[in-house]
Amino acid sequence: MSNPLLIILSAPSGAGKTTLCKRILADFIINISISVTTRQPRGKEQEGVDYHFVTEEQFLELKQKDAFAEYAHVHNNWYGTLKSSIDEALTNNQSLLFDIDLEGAANLARAYRTLRIFIEPPSIEVLEQRLRARGEDNEATIAMRLMHARQEIARKHECDHSVINKDLEVASKQIEQILLPHLRKR
Ligand code: 5GP
Repeated sequence: MSNPLLIILSAPSGAGKTTLCKRILADFIINISISVTTRQPRGKEQEGVDYHFVTEEQFLELKQKDAFAEYAHVHNNWYGTLKSSIDEALTNNQSLLFDIDLEGAANLARAYRTLRIFIEPPSIEVLEQRLRARGEDNEATIAMRLMHARQEIARKHECDHSVINKDLEVASKQIEQILLPHLRKR
């Protein structure tokens, strides 16, 4: 196996990234990086499992202390990856999985060994249907997520691989093939 890697899955919300991340975590020996965010917890999300939920004041203090390897302002909230969590994994020779946006992926790629995978929805129309079916966002948020999705899809070539998530099983298999040379299976 090669040296530890930062494996980054980037995708517009609704592209199925969370499900694909869960499959990777179940199939391969890898931990997920838990980001810090100022967003409110949704549904069953838990502190320290899905995110570290902080106030804007706490986030900006960490930012001022240069604690973040990367951070971004996405959909009106702050999100960031702590340098300390990356350093800890790499020191222990462990690869880490990231569910972060393209901007964050590009910033990590400047400083670390990364493998970037873009998860693409089959079309913007399908993405819109999935976001509506999820029932989590109001009209304005859906419109903002779709605009952001178009911008991200236009930048997919920045990633090392791009996988279209039309069929979850097919996409999952493609990702497995990409990861097999880099990670051990459970
Ligand atoms: P959500 O609010 O749906 O959990 O995430 C919104 C977006 O923020 C997603 O595209 C997600 O990948 C991205 N994101 C989550 N954590 C981070 C992070 O630490 N850094 C960056 N740059 N983006 C993140």
